Amino acid sequence: MSSYDLGITRIYTKTSQYGLWYLVVSFILVLLLQDTYFYFIHRLLHRPKLFKWLHRGHHRSVEPTPWTSFAFDPPEAIIQAIFLLVTVFVIPLHYITFLGILMTMTLWSIINHLGFELLPCSSRYNWLTKWFIGAKHHLIHHQKYNTHYGLYFTFWDELLHTQDSNYQK
Ligand SMILES: [Zn+2]
Ligand SMILES: [Zn+2]
Repeated sequence: MSSYDLGITRIYTKTSQYGLWYLVVSFILVLLLQDTYFYFIHRLLHRPKLFKWLHRGHHRSVEPTPWTSFAFDPPEAIIQAIFLLVTVFVIPLHYITFLGILMTMTLWSIINHLGFELLPCSSRYNWLTKWFIGAKHHLIHHQKYNTHYGLYFTFWDELLHTQDSNYQK
């Protein structure tokens, strides 16, 4: 019997349980939390001792391709999976929201590793799109290593000065 059958996880099936608005709010909340988790873990993984054991596999791609989005050393894959594992036990999530999060995570990662930008250059300065990470933003991480640690959003990189100073020039 799985944890779901036992009712241990907070995954639920009836939309009426928390209302329709909660589907959207919980989706955004989890993306924000995951981005925060990823940013700080990613910075830690770039400490020389940890990098060698946990993150070097992903950085073998200096010129990322969509395949890079699936290339992680097993320990790093486990560290990233822990976030979702804990989330389903802590935050109530409709199973559709959870599927949406998994799809967003996969697609966004592929887009970040395309090697070319889907949006025009002006998106880097636009008041709204500048907060979203895309292929160019993450490409700089693969080339410089010490900038651009975020996953979905540029908030943390901006706030903690790890955004490349030439990125918006
Ligand atoms: Zn990295
Ligand atoms: Zn990458």
